[in-house]
Amino acid sequence: MSQGFAVTIVGAGVVGCALAWELARAGQEVLVLDKNPGVSQGENQSTRNSGVIHAGLYYDQQTRPLKAALCVEGSRLLYEFCERYGVPALKCGKLVVATREAELPMLERYLARAHENQVPAQLLNGAQATEREPQVQAVGALLLPTSGIIDAAALVHKLYALASKAGAQFVSHTEMIGAAPAAEGLEIEVQYRDGARDKFFSGRLINSAGLYADQVARMVDPDSPFRVDPLRGEAMKFYRTRRPEVELAGMNVYPTPKKVTTDQGTYFTVGVHLTPTLETGPQGSFGLGPVVTVGPLNRQARGREDYGGDFKPAAEFFEQVVDFFPSLRLEDLEPHQVGIQARLVGHQDFVMQFCPSQPRCLNLLGIDSPGLTSAMALARRARAMLLD
Ligand SMILES: Cc1cc2nc3c(=O)[nH]c(=O)nc-3n(C[C@H](O)[C@H](O)[C@H](O)COP(=O)(O)OP(=O)(O)OC[C@H]3O[C@@H](n4cnc5c(N)ncnc54)[C@H](O)[C@@H]3O)c2cc1C
Repeated sequence: MSQGFAVTIVGAGVVGCALAWELARAGQEVLVLDKNPGVSQGENQSTRNSGVIHAGLYYDQQTRPLKAALCVEGSRLLYEFCERYGVPALKCGKLVVATREAELPMLERYLARAHENQVPAQLLNGAQATEREPQVQAVGALLLPTSGIIDAAALVHKLYALASKAGAQFVSHTEMIGAAPAAEGLEIEVQYRDGARDKFFSGRLINSAGLYADQVARMVDPDSPFRVDPLRGEAMKFYRTRRPEVELAGMNVYPTPKKVTTDQGTYFTVGVHLTPTLETGPQGSFGLGPVVTVGPLNRQARGREDYGGDFKPAAEFFEQVVDFFPSLRLEDLEPHQVGIQARLVGHQDFVMQFCPSQPRCLNLLGIDSPGLTSAMALARRARAMLLD
């Protein structure tokens, strides 16, 4: 890699791939580095998430303006992209359910938020909620018709294929380990799988390194103040086809939002929810699959690669959903996956900013949920920041 590149992107998750496509088709010479063995291989947020296309309900414009705007724009772009390029996605809708009268005012507050964010939403009573999703019991619900589900791995692969076709070069098993200022750019240092090191010149650097974005930011500016607080989320699953009592119609079903506290602070979470999954068939066909995921249950991760270890007992997942999904049995549940979110200490919103001491580096930090939904809008905004 002795030659130079106009733009280097660190991280080939959904955001890095979407941005590589945006920039490559704008005529930029793009290199994408990832320490993982390949795109969608190995661990990152983009391979281990709930696969929900969020409508854009949760984020208020005062404290989370980027999430509020990019989630709504991103969801629209995502549906259009999936339709055009045959990526499995389904606008199945979502119910946010209240199981106690005391939660009803929260639904009304979220309805007002939905209006503010121009997200289609409708308040339902319990009977109307059960009409939509017959196994669900609630005293009221918020219906979000634009929420959906997506095959996240297929999305990342399609973006990678399009970016490659447009000229972007992807190099896997290659970790960025340092950066130094150079005339008109940066000298980037990388380490290959065999331990060998290399340096090359890049005019610009885009940091979309997910859980490691704070470390990459510090390689460029040792005084960078950002710290990632990795948040582990465990999910169980059940098969909706195994018993008629758990045969869901196929909507996302969420409780009212919850808070989770770690050593580093208190975060908002969307709560343990039911999410249908997609199944692909022959010749690009797809439809609802038999698996429904139940999660995530969050706790502070023991590190950025804390994917193994003990799963929380199934009873803890069961307790979180049984009030609104009473036909579930404890024995229906089995472990599904662990994912780790890149929560940013002291920040609730995405952070997109040029490094103050090195304006040739654009940092994308705190790209946790709804980063999958927002990826295409994030990429467009980053392209505008870089090229306009
Ligand atoms: C449990 C869970 C559930 C979620 N559910 C949803 C959901 O339903 N809907 C939604 O919209 N969002 C969801 N999200 C959030 C979403 O998955 C992320 O916001 C999104 O995937 C972030 O993508 P990314 O490309 O920024 O980061 P990542 O996917 O984490 O990719 C970053 C990449 O950078 C690479 N990298 C890091 N450091 C280096 C280095 N030094 N050198 C080279 N490469 C490096 C990593 O190997 C990795 O591949 C969820 C996340 C989790 C964990």
